[in-house]
Amino acid sequence: KKFIVVGQGGREHALSHVLSLSSGADVLVSPGNPGMDDGRLGFLPSFPDDPKEASERIAAEKPDVVIIGPEKPLVAGLADCLKSRSIPVVGPTSEAARIEGSKLFAKEIMKQSGIPTAEFSEVTTVEEIRTLVRKWGYPLVLKEDGLAQGKGVWVMKNPDDLDEVLDRYFDREGKKQNVGRIYAEKGLSGPEVSYIVMTDGERFLPFPTARDFKRVGDGDTGPNTGGMGALTPVPGWTSQDDESARMVIERCLWGLKKNGTPFMGFLYAGLMKTASGIMVLEFNARFGDPEAQVLLPQVGEGFADLMEGLARGSLPTSHPFKGKPTVGVVLASPGYPEKPVTGGRIIGIDKVRKLESVSVYSAGISLAPGGGKTDLVSSGGRVLTVSAEGDSLQAARALAYSALELLHLPGGHYRSDIALSESNEPL
Ligand code: ATP
Repeated sequence: KKFIVVGQGGREHALSHVLSLSSGADVLVSPGNPGMDDGRLGFLPSFPDDPKEASERIAAEKPDVVIIGPEKPLVAGLADCLKSRSIPVVGPTSEAARIEGSKLFAKEIMKQSGIPTAEFSEVTTVEEIRTLVRKWGYPLVLKEDGLAQGKGVWVMKNPDDLDEVLDRYFDREGKKQNVGRIYAEKGLSGPEVSYIVMTDGERFLPFPTARDFKRVGDGDTGPNTGGMGALTPVPGWTSQDDESARMVIERCLWGLKKNGTPFMGFLYAGLMKTASGIMVLEFNARFGDPEAQVLLPQVGEGFADLMEGLARGSLPTSHPFKGKPTVGVVLASPGYPEKPVTGGRIIGIDKVRKLESVSVYSAGISLAPGGGKTDLVSSGGRVLTVSAEGDSLQAARALAYSALELLHLPGGHYRSDIALSESNEPL
């Protein structure tokens, strides 16, 4: 069976690697990156951004199943175009992907479907925000409606934070400027959990729970990033929590179907366990990165069958996930996330790949100009994820960090506290 994975980051490396463990799966990645080239995967050039043109090129490859990794081609409508050509695809239509692409759409679906989430209100003037501060107090959260790669969310804890955000979005007359729709929501508090399921629109299969680490610095300091690390499973997750999370997913699928935009693919609920129970912060229409690098290895064999079932509307209702404690740590280029400096030589990947229970998922990596197949240089902000399994999170953590010591990238940096007990707040 021929699988095409669309994308080029660590998430797509994990998707294609785990697919390639299924017997009889022929896996092609478009465009992938040279760090993925371990002899098991094939590569296709980048597809055009235009979804119609891309689907034409994909159709010419006659794949059995196409898996779309990143949100951008999903929002652009690549899954729609593939579906209209009757090509089995894992990924939602652009209308269903609005659950991620428009936060206000997601809030409406949550409201209509009875999904617990923070109270919110769209705002257009400073006065409206001040009224909400008086009503809800701090922390108050301001969010941009559209995709902003983690840069459109402001958690305001005090009047100084509020002033800073107001300056950013409002002019002297107190009118909104240089931004699309925005809304304020009540601040919640509690530990966060990534709850990711695969769904064919009717049935769904949840992965084990995960947590990602978004800030660049230890102790959750510094600016937001695409994700600096992840762990699974989240300590303290109870069967009651799981029931609440399942209900969230059921209601979301029901709400999207009722809206005429049924969802299939990977649905990601960003949850917070608050004093009044599990609440939803956001939905994403795709797998998380770096959550994929710790969760996909839990599938073991049989991922190809799961993906084919999903794409054809007959997802199995159970799967024996390994459930092995796993920790992933991202190695980033110097200057990431503000101003990543790329082109640094990466040494040691081969050594790390030989370690037992350790995987390297490559992202911002390209071939050194004029170099051979193993001369790799960094070409993006997040360079790779080292993912290690152990009998406990602490053992997995120790293994991941000892593997990172074998890697060298000039000026490269990674967080040193992923899955450290203090940062690893149990529920
Ligand atoms: P991502 O990078 O995960 O896609 P995003 O930009 O889509 O993020 P959200 O997940 O909605 O935005 O919010 C980002 C972070 O802001 C959350 O992980 C959480 O830590 C914080 N946050 C969001 N909403 C709230 C809230 N209502 N109360 C407290 N913190 C919140």
